[in-house]
Amino acid sequence: MSLAKKLVAPQLRDLQPYQSARRIGGIGQVYLNANESGFAPYEMPVTETWNRYPDFLPTDLTNTYSRYVGINPDRTMAVRGADEAIDLLIRTFCEPHKDAIRIQSPTYSMYEFVAQAHGVAVDTVSLDSSFELDMKRNSSAEVGGKNLKIIFICNPNNPTGNALSQDSIAAIAEEHRESAFVVIDEAYIEYCPQESLLSLIDSHPNVIVIRTLSKAFALAAIRVGFLIAREEVLEQVGKLIAPYPIPDNSARIAISALSDSGVSHMQSCRDQTIALREQTQNDMNELNAVEQVYSSVTNFLLVRFRDTSLVMQTLLEEGVVVRDQTHFAQLPQHLRITVGTSEEMLEMMSHIRAL
Ligand SMILES: *Cc1c(COP(=O)(O)O)cnc(C)c1O
Repeated sequence: MSLAKKLVAPQLRDLQPYQSARRIGGIGQVYLNANESGFAPYEMPVTETWNRYPDFLPTDLTNTYSRYVGINPDRTMAVRGADEAIDLLIRTFCEPHKDAIRIQSPTYSMYEFVAQAHGVAVDTVSLDSSFELDMKRNSSAEVGGKNLKIIFICNPNNPTGNALSQDSIAAIAEEHRESAFVVIDEAYIEYCPQESLLSLIDSHPNVIVIRTLSKAFALAAIRVGFLIAREEVLEQVGKLIAPYPIPDNSARIAISALSDSGVSHMQSCRDQTIALREQTQNDMNELNAVEQVYSSVTNFLLVRFRDTSLVMQTLLEEGVVVRDQTHFAQLPQHLRITVGTSEEMLEMMSHIRAL
């Protein structure tokens, strides 16, 4: 056994690395596996002053994002993508071996991964057959002798693509008002802004919202996301954040993308993506290989195929990379397909049609 293996923290010993789309790999010319936007981002700014550290907490960026969402800048914190927000929240509020988080399965796997990496227990609640929240299981605060600290709710949910009941989420927030945080991951909210529960922060001190520029804003590469919560929550999280967390370049690109014309650009791309999603859903419903296309309020479709491994393998051979979801018990024949450009959708469809 290597020294590194011998000395590694016990909670990391058997931990499988998070399987990001890039890590899973797959070589092709059509990448529909990471829910990135197929559009070019809004204009890139010219950069200078490389010799200076960036702002510690980029105030301009925070103010710009606050204006975009219509909240007080004191309730906004810029982070290196939504993934860092998840990591910061678990490390700030959970004590290894004593605390627990709750997730709603099938969902985004980073919540569970980060918790395991820090020795925090995970209480997995299954979504029901229509991918809605299990209210009975969510009302309990009892998780095998551990203290429930954070309930993660991805809304709209990845990989199922549906928006969860706003009343249910509000009821869970109310139920745990005094005892646990309810973290609402709104990574895809630009595709369905009416589903946002940002206003719950006004009524509930335990509600935290996560946002990102990686999806509808087409800026996955710059690593910018936001934590939105009461000031006293951000104060605790702020103890852990890295010095100068947001590279200057990223802050400038983000500020430009959040300008009025940048937001209009995002909305126009968003509307095109939604139209293409609806068309792709209709087209897929005509295919023999397809058993079910779930309706989606995001930029991806969850699809149940008759012969899933054949579809996955055929697409891979043709250089079209989609995301396998069969590791989830509730999704035994399902693939998640990002809505890319119309050319990419045509290419993907032609390979499935040829089966
Ligand atoms: C893509 C995604 C993230 C990660 O976003 P980054 O800002 O790129 O880190 C977080 N949550 C969900 C639900 C996602 O789909």
